[in-house]
Amino acid sequence: MVCPNTQTSMPPAPDEDVLATMRADGSRRWLRPKPACGHFWKKRAVVAWVLMALFTITPWLRWNGQPLFLFDITARRFTFFGTTFHADETLPLALLVLSIFLTIFLLSALLGRVWCGWACPQTVYMEFLYRPIERLVEGKHYQNPARHPLPKWRVVLKYAIFLVLSLHLANTFLSWFVGTDRMVEWTRQSPFENPGPFMVVAVTTGLMMFDFAFWREQMCTLACPYARFQSVLLDRSSLVVGYDEKRGEPRGNARKLASQGVEAGDCVDCHRCVTTCPTGIDIRKGLQLECIACTQCIDACDEVMDKVGKPRGLIRYGSQDQLEGHSTQFWRPRVIIYPLLLIGILSLLVYTVATRGEAQLDFLRARGQIPYRTLEDGSISNLVHINITNRTNEPATYDVRLKGEGELLKPQFPLTVPAQTAQDVNIHVIVPAEGFEQGRREIQMELFSDDKVHDTAKRTILGPLQLNGS
Ligand code: SF4
Ligand code: SF4
Repeated sequence: MVCPNTQTSMPPAPDEDVLATMRADGSRRWLRPKPACGHFWKKRAVVAWVLMALFTITPWLRWNGQPLFLFDITARRFTFFGTTFHADETLPLALLVLSIFLTIFLLSALLGRVWCGWACPQTVYMEFLYRPIERLVEGKHYQNPARHPLPKWRVVLKYAIFLVLSLHLANTFLSWFVGTDRMVEWTRQSPFENPGPFMVVAVTTGLMMFDFAFWREQMCTLACPYARFQSVLLDRSSLVVGYDEKRGEPRGNARKLASQGVEAGDCVDCHRCVTTCPTGIDIRKGLQLECIACTQCIDACDEVMDKVGKPRGLIRYGSQDQLEGHSTQFWRPRVIIYPLLLIGILSLLVYTVATRGEAQLDFLRARGQIPYRTLEDGSISNLVHINITNRTNEPATYDVRLKGEGELLKPQFPLTVPAQTAQDVNIHVIVPAEGFEQGRREIQMELFSDDKVHDTAKRTILGPLQLNGS
């Protein structure tokens, strides 16, 4: 038996391109898609520009004095439509994530890869910003640089524009995570004062340059996990961009085929649908993982059909069943189950958010400390870590008290917690030694301000297993 690692002979090379963007010898086939500006392209352009504007403007928008969206990872809080979730609010966060996933599942089941073709930032920025700029700067050199070599000044100009755009995108992207106020402050300061954020912007700019100037469609065809899920998220009734094989085949020159006694289909085999495809595939080979449903081939083929006087729609939106001439089924189990689950989860999310208090008290797990101390008077002292969350949009002053016998040693209280912030504090809980069973005792603590109780939390504290003398 030959060990694969010691095998010396090379496997035979494939006799055709292995991927749309890779030649048989493994080299990159650089794509230069020719735009097809039909009615879908015009609609997508409007959607793309609205999305780009929203991406830039949204971090500046406020709702009840709070950012509309802010994913503040360092402070472990996330704001959606002005409602802030803290990282320890596991239930609403889990419900939110679940509802996002279910929405994606439902959209994919109904509309296929509509996200990829119309709304994904990769497609939007590549096809409606970077690629149009590339075409503009390269001019007649764009389509065939081998025949019209690109002058150096055009190359420099193109990458200079890409760099400025990527810098802007990186700053905008970062402002979703740190907020525009901090972004503006950092921008005004020297990079040496904020080396961390400066490095994040520099690295993000580099990644954007790499993606939009070099990596491009390979993000969709090789890297994106969403594309890999398509086979399970879509079914034969989901909307896809597809080629009507029955109508189009046999493809080719009608006169030539007629001379061979063959009645030609509507496809004139002009390859326009292939040269316009941003992922370089031939839609006539059927539904492929690389197809991002961008509709470019629909526009290109409709243009050709208009020219040859045939009805539009040889390539069109439709389900796989429809394209094969069968009836399509709208109501399928997944189309019923996903919305039902979504309604249930969203209702629970709304209820959880609506009924949560203005402030929250939590006990945190204490690590690496003496479990308890016996004081001179015989009482038992436990050091506990608590976390107080202020969910209001104003700073608030809180206090804590013990329910039942015992007292708290809490020099930091009353404690003022800034708006929408969670703060950790250490306090000592001192209780009589008598109340412990098997070395454990439950305590209850109240969080209050101005005699209004906001939250109550329970915790087990530790003490002696047996009382001296008992
Ligand atoms: S096959 Fe058509 S819809 Fe799919 S990616 Fe290519 S151009 Fe877009
Ligand atoms: S653009 Fe239309 S006619 Fe031309 S090759 Fe593609 S499917 Fe055939």
